[in-house]
Amino acid sequence: MIYQGVAIAERLEGGRKGCEIEVGLSDVVCTVDSEKIRFSILDVEISMGGASDRLIYFKHPRFPDFIFYTSDKKILKDENLHYHDHAKKNVKQVNKKRVFNWTIVAGIVGFFGLIVLCLFMFRSQMIRAVANQVPPQWERQVGDKLFEQVTSGHNLIKDSMLINELTKTMQPLVKAVDDSSFHFKFFIVQDATLNAFALPGGNIVIHSGLIAKSTSWEELMGVLGHEISHVTERHHIRGIVSNLGIFVVLSAVIGDATAVFGTLAQAGGDLSSLMYSRDYEREADEKGWDYLLKANIDPRGMISFFKKLQKEYPEDKELGEITAVLSTHPATKERIDNLNEKTKELKGLKFTTISNSFDTFKQRLKTDLDKE
Ligand SMILES: [Zn+2]
Repeated sequence: MIYQGVAIAERLEGGRKGCEIEVGLSDVVCTVDSEKIRFSILDVEISMGGASDRLIYFKHPRFPDFIFYTSDKKILKDENLHYHDHAKKNVKQVNKKRVFNWTIVAGIVGFFGLIVLCLFMFRSQMIRAVANQVPPQWERQVGDKLFEQVTSGHNLIKDSMLINELTKTMQPLVKAVDDSSFHFKFFIVQDATLNAFALPGGNIVIHSGLIAKSTSWEELMGVLGHEISHVTERHHIRGIVSNLGIFVVLSAVIGDATAVFGTLAQAGGDLSSLMYSRDYEREADEKGWDYLLKANIDPRGMISFFKKLQKEYPEDKELGEITAVLSTHPATKERIDNLNEKTKELKGLKFTTISNSFDTFKQRLKTDLDKE
């Protein structure tokens, strides 16, 4: 079999020339310009070289000025090279080196692959770590700014007795959070749609329509447990950070948070930054459920309210009015199923009976709205 190669010798024009290599029974022959150079197979030296060790070189002690090589790896399998111990040993060494080289390449590729894999596996932990670097007062400032944007031109209920009752009734939930970084404040806005939303830092806005459709404090607290969790889980900041590239996030974890803070300052006050992913919705459901349990409030109110929400706003229908963009994601079947599954944990638990009448509260709100 003939292998294409290159001969290197000073006497050749330009120092090198294409050649044909043939492995015979007794020698390796290089034909260049119809001249045949024969390296005895008994003492030919075979080695690897060139860029990334891709070439197989043939040298011979008797021809110190003449070398030839080929990139055709098939030559290593040429059976004539395997008849003689010397050549066989050479080929074996070359093959060993090739395996070694490949091991290194595979090792390097594997190492970097692993790093990238780790980056993706720990992505959410990194995002959380970056979010935790953001001072709570920054969140409150952004939350206040968003509050003004969202409520401007809309009627906020100013009945302090009503708001006080709402705030007081929600205290067990707030206590369950047990974190002074957040300042929870509850507001009611006149809007007939079934919605409530939380702003970073702790302002929680409830539509009057949501209260009108609720039939118990437990239902309202179910929704608010969910909203409070968006705040405590810092979904607003995490949402913005997660839209950044993984390497920006990594560099912020390692120390240089400039890019992240720049983006936060830019995107933080944008209403669309309050749109949460399905994962965050699920997380808020679960965390909210835990807060309700901790507060000794029957969490099944969350499920019964979500069912109402699902009926009112099927998954493909957008919420209208001021908060289309802020809408709690539709109460999907998946979310309701997920919560139903959790009711199994409730066996034998006794919950607080909330003493103030929800109907009276609702009626007072209705009277306030009628006066407007
Ligand atoms: Zn939500």
